[in-house]
Amino acid sequence: MPEQTDSASRRLLGRLRDTLAEPGAGQERLDRITHIIAEQMGTDVCSIYLFRDPDTLELCATEGLKPEAVHQTRLRVGEGLVGRVAKTARPINTGNAPQERGFRYMPETGEEVFSSFLGVPVQRLGVRLGVLVVQSKEGRQYSDDEVYALEVVAMVLAEMTELGAFIGEGEALTALHSRPAMLRGTVAQEGVAMGHAWLHEPRVVVTQPIADDPATEMARLNEAVDKLRITVDEMLNAAPDGDNEQLQVLEAYRMFANSRGWKRRMEEDIARGLSAEAAVEKEQSAARARMQTVPDPYLRERLHDLDDLSNRLLRILTGQGERTGAERPADPILIARNIGPGELLDYGRSLRGIVLEEGAVGSHAAIVARALAIPLIVHAGRITTEALNGDPVLVDGEQGIVHLRPEETVASAFRDKMAMQAKAVKRYAAIRNEPALTLCGTRVALTMNAGLMADLPSLESSGAEGVGLFRTELQFLVRTKVPRRSELAQLYARVIDAAQGKRVVFRTLDIGSDKVLPYMKRREEPNPALGWRAIRVGLDRPGVMRMQIQALIRAANGRPLTLMFPFVAQLDEFRTAREHVLGELEREERLGRVLPEKVEIGAMLETPSMAFAPRQFYEEADFISIGGNDLKQFFFAADRENEHVRRRYDTLNVSFLTLLEQIVKRCEDTGTPLSFCGEDAGRPVEALCFAAIGLRALSMRPASIGPVKNMLRKSDLTEARAVIDAARASGAQSVRPAVMDWLRRRGE
Ligand code: PEP
Ligand code: MG
Repeated sequence: MPEQTDSASRRLLGRLRDTLAEPGAGQERLDRITHIIAEQMGTDVCSIYLFRDPDTLELCATEGLKPEAVHQTRLRVGEGLVGRVAKTARPINTGNAPQERGFRYMPETGEEVFSSFLGVPVQRLGVRLGVLVVQSKEGRQYSDDEVYALEVVAMVLAEMTELGAFIGEGEALTALHSRPAMLRGTVAQEGVAMGHAWLHEPRVVVTQPIADDPATEMARLNEAVDKLRITVDEMLNAAPDGDNEQLQVLEAYRMFANSRGWKRRMEEDIARGLSAEAAVEKEQSAARARMQTVPDPYLRERLHDLDDLSNRLLRILTGQGERTGAERPADPILIARNIGPGELLDYGRSLRGIVLEEGAVGSHAAIVARALAIPLIVHAGRITTEALNGDPVLVDGEQGIVHLRPEETVASAFRDKMAMQAKAVKRYAAIRNEPALTLCGTRVALTMNAGLMADLPSLESSGAEGVGLFRTELQFLVRTKVPRRSELAQLYARVIDAAQGKRVVFRTLDIGSDKVLPYMKRREEPNPALGWRAIRVGLDRPGVMRMQIQALIRAANGRPLTLMFPFVAQLDEFRTAREHVLGELEREERLGRVLPEKVEIGAMLETPSMAFAPRQFYEEADFISIGGNDLKQFFFAADRENEHVRRRYDTLNVSFLTLLEQIVKRCEDTGTPLSFCGEDAGRPVEALCFAAIGLRALSMRPASIGPVKNMLRKSDLTEARAVIDAARASGAQSVRPAVMDWLRRRGE
């Protein structure tokens, strides 16, 4: 790049900085800036368009167009050349603007005399802030150098906008991050929450986008990139073998960290007058803009990696770490792009809600959030760029909506909703120690699902009659290596202690599918949900399963022990697993340990095959627990983690209810205790229908026990059964409409 253009560009930035350092309102500054840019670049026009709302751009300052058009001329995104730059986030450079596709003539500006047009987006980290335009009478294309120079200026404008340099009168000049924003996402854990934003990774703030001495900035960049390369190499050395996904990410980090192109572009930015951190951010912004348009998921992931790497580099350069000095609000709503289960556990129950930009309903973080009963919304737009630490946030984990900096009317409607819920919670607390006894005198046992130590206090507060499902894999998922037997024995003993004589059903390790242990060699499987998981892993590699059984026997220490195996798909699997338990009991006895007073060995019924298993299965299992989440996904062939199909099939679909009813009958025939422990057990209408077709034990999230008990206590199961039967006889696909109608008529 010619030295001359670099120094011209630096002079321009220098003048901009001086202008910004002078006192003055936003409008004055914008006016001066357009004047300087036009003068310095030798163009007839320079205009700045900013967003006044997410769909409309407003001409906010101009040198060369008619001044009366300022704050009058407005364009929709995509409209005219300016609107197109905003929409595509790409520059438009033309020597013959009126002939350009999409050109729109705006008479009030007097722009008809200008043939050439160069517009570049003003954007910061993927957030579009406006468009910067230069125009000339002479019909010529602007040179690459000129385009580049204008992009560098646009970058500085974006930084200054972020820092609040242009706040003034009118919508377009309001402070950023001050308007209410509503983002839609996907519910991963239901519930409503109100609080203040707490960013898991606070944004780095670039306070000095312009620098005088390129040599110093170059040296700073080199030093930071060297540090970054060392960190990435260290991360690669420390990465566990076999974790292909993590290795892939780190390899991508290394590739970018050593990429000449990335470094060269940043050096060019510095040569033109940007500080090292502004140069990093300029490249990061460009990558984010690309990220939004790249359809290929693999490429998008790599752009994400580049984004992460840029953040690391920015932290090295600015010294801004995770700690920014901001104080964590008393009612934090955690905002993050994504988060691991361990990190989430560190925050623990202090969080009111969680909003993730990425994440997945079936992620480990979602499992932890569910266990902690913290409302969680995933795939929530650009929440990490929109939210600032301390912003008021409402999480509507029913609709999957996040209100950021809500208007008072929204906040007050939300407060009403929360108050109604609080009232309901009070109502449920009043029946906490009452049994779930229906109007027709049937008793249904309500137990809770658990998996973390954090769940134990809920045993008392929810009124659960015990733990119907203890997901032991959560303890494995939140660790970095396989837990030791003694550690597990202690942990299980604490669970049994906390239950104070109530029954706890420990489910042996259910890993595989979406639950991947970070420290276990992973198999690439074409279809993990149908792959090597749960009991299949346990039987093929019995070491860990046996260790877990030993830990359970030791934890019981003479008290009753109940355990069950997940994902049994044929009788043999259950028999072999049972043999393992009996073998371990013998071994422990030989070692002189106290055996449990009583051992119950059960099976989860999660595959349709077991509904049709030989009678012996029902006779040999001490009890059966229906894992409705998996059973449903296999019954309907609809992936429980796939948002496109997850909700397509109703649990109250006649086919599914008939399958459940058949399992109930088979268990009645053999006298096998039966329960249902999938998510649906915690939904009052579903729970009522399950009870009506004969289920007498339901296990659910602790927060669901109150609502389900309330529903059952107000219901007559014979009546409910009649409604279900009538709906079935009528040929309905699902009994839900009929049941809902009956409930409405009953006054609910
Ligand atoms: C189920 O499948 O219903 C179940 C309870 O197990 P998980 O959700 O842990 O797979
Ligand atoms: Mg399951």
